[in-house]
Amino acid sequence: MHPSFLRRALLSLLVLPCLALGPALATAQEPVWDGNKVQMRSEQLAPGVYAFYADDAQALNAQGKAAATSAGLVVGSRASLLVETMLNQRLLGQVQALSAQHTRAPLAYAVNTSAHGDHSYGNMYLPASTRIVQHAATSRYVQQHLQEDKAFMLKNFGAGRGIEPIVARTGDILVPAGGRLTLDLGGIAVELIDFGFAQTGGDLFVWEPASKVMWTGNAVVAGKPALPWLLDGHLAETLATLRKVYDFLPPDARIVPGHGVAIGREDLRWSIDYLAAVQAQVQAAVAQGLTLEQTLAQVRMPEFRGYALFDWVHPALNVPAAYRDLTSK
Ligand SMILES: [Zn+2]
Repeated sequence: MHPSFLRRALLSLLVLPCLALGPALATAQEPVWDGNKVQMRSEQLAPGVYAFYADDAQALNAQGKAAATSAGLVVGSRASLLVETMLNQRLLGQVQALSAQHTRAPLAYAVNTSAHGDHSYGNMYLPASTRIVQHAATSRYVQQHLQEDKAFMLKNFGAGRGIEPIVARTGDILVPAGGRLTLDLGGIAVELIDFGFAQTGGDLFVWEPASKVMWTGNAVVAGKPALPWLLDGHLAETLATLRKVYDFLPPDARIVPGHGVAIGREDLRWSIDYLAAVQAQVQAAVAQGLTLEQTLAQVRMPEFRGYALFDWVHPALNVPAAYRDLTSK
């Protein structure tokens, strides 16, 4: 896969200078959020179903700022399942401690929604008895690219945040491309679903049908005004996947996004409408024969402003990704 390549190229050139620009954003020396400071808390969404958030996630989401990784726990009579293993040992320890408040049994499963370090680096600290569940493409990515991924994460989340000691621990249970796996925890079941390319090509959505709760990982960063990050490109596929997820969900479903507090199904419209607008407007620019620079000048989309990272995510990441996507065919 080429994603790490693209991420490295794009982000080493673009993220850090841009992050240093806005007062609301982190400086190049400061991480987007600090893995040594984040405090996780638990919210019960239904019997046996818990979301774990950073305790400032609600406030940060409301201000359009970046919150730490969200996680979760599903507890059955026979087994329990952790969603996300977090950036480092400290944050994994926090979600383990929160889990221990809700179940006395050791965690039978831990799911990574993608290979991103803030969702998977904690794997190595879990006991061998906890079975790691990943998408097959995520396992391959970690096997092939962990060192460059760590370099990328160190750059953006800082040294001394527990990233240096990370070694690969890949999935014991792999969900194949297009797959859907059901894990029966005893009285409650969890489905791990590949809806298609969502951000990395190794994306799993975690669905608990009885409570109608879904964890999306980074495919949905947070509610409005947060926007998707097309780190690995694939605008059209990402849009199609989010539409599929929207159609799959019942109207009263709740969604735990990758970096925020729970939102509703209709809140997905913000990300979908944004990507659809990027697609339509970049397509029009390509049809006019505009260069990428001209396209950037034309596709400003002020109606989607509000996200603190907008001035990086939109012009430096998403529009170029869309332009490449729509001109490569
Ligand atoms: Zn993340």
